[in-house]
Amino acid sequence: MNAFRSSDPLLLMREDLHGFVGYRSARSESVRGDAWLNANEACDRSSADPSGAVRRYPSPQPEGLVARLARLYGCDPARLLVGRGSDEAIDLLVRAFCAPSRDAVLATPPVFGMYAVSARLHGARVVEAPLFDDGEDFRIDFDAVAQAAVALHAKLVFLCSPGNPAGGVAPREAVVGLARRLDGRALVIVDEAYVEFAEAPALVREVAALRNLVVLRTLSKAHALAGARIGCAIADPDVIAALRRCQAPYPIPASSAEVAVAALSPTSLETTASRITATKQARDRLRESLRMLPGVRRVYPSQANFLLVRFADAEGAWRALCNAGIVVRDMRAMPRLHDALRITIGTADENARLLAALRGALA
Ligand SMILES: *Cc1c(COP(=O)(O)O)cnc(C)c1O
Repeated sequence: MNAFRSSDPLLLMREDLHGFVGYRSARSESVRGDAWLNANEACDRSSADPSGAVRRYPSPQPEGLVARLARLYGCDPARLLVGRGSDEAIDLLVRAFCAPSRDAVLATPPVFGMYAVSARLHGARVVEAPLFDDGEDFRIDFDAVAQAAVALHAKLVFLCSPGNPAGGVAPREAVVGLARRLDGRALVIVDEAYVEFAEAPALVREVAALRNLVVLRTLSKAHALAGARIGCAIADPDVIAALRRCQAPYPIPASSAEVAVAALSPTSLETTASRITATKQARDRLRESLRMLPGVRRVYPSQANFLLVRFADAEGAWRALCNAGIVVRDMRAMPRLHDALRITIGTADENARLLAALRGALA
């Protein structure tokens, strides 16, 4: 039915890392025994850790957590890498696939800053295919992305959907089309940090057919575990294995794995689902209220848990919020966002306070 066949994504990896096996930790050797004297851990627990939960190094990829995440996202466990937030996955992708000073990372500004930060730190070039604003929303110019990626030799193309900071979703067919078009040339990475708040289905199920597609997911936003630092890359099993070889030996603290496993229990997932529903409703209500305020120029149609708002007097709005003790994200230093603030959806009380403060200032 479908003649398209992706090529081997490992051909895109840094040439000097072909054959690289990474660090072989004591935990990566599969041996059996009941006296573990191979990793130089202490022989007794700390008085601060009476249960002994953290005396030993943790599993590099905690099996129970990987299994639950794979079930949650609907993928094979071999397609999933757990990292210290999706930030770590971004960093690993850049390090594994971009040769410093030579290869490039493509980003679509205005967008989440970590793609460019990881690239800069690694010495990779950053090339841009800016979003275009059609008067209603920021959108990805897929043709411009494909052309720039090819012309400027981008190995990694980062898309953010829903986009941070505006909250719009990239059409699935367009992402799939881009991945096919860049097959053999670049990985297309879709950062879905906020997809739980969106109406669109997630892209994970496309990963099986498109070997150069990578999806990033995180427990930091919808699952309310930002402090645990648990995020994932979902991709071709060979890409996942390659990223593992570039990762630190024990990236996931035992306590983080434990709280994440608990957060993925059926009862906890129910609570999460109702919080997501409530957040989406609050977002849509807050958007309507903000749009009625006289000094508000535009509120972008968000499918995330934040709103990007343009003000006639952004400085006045910012100062009114500061004076009311309300901290929002100042976007004004970003190109094309000189009049914009990004507001995270808060509790009912916080949202009401925010509206009251803005009403007072903008009236
Ligand atoms: C918050 C955010 C992340 C970071 O997620 P972590 O898993 O906490 O590292 C990634 N991408 C985008 C677009 C974000 O807004």
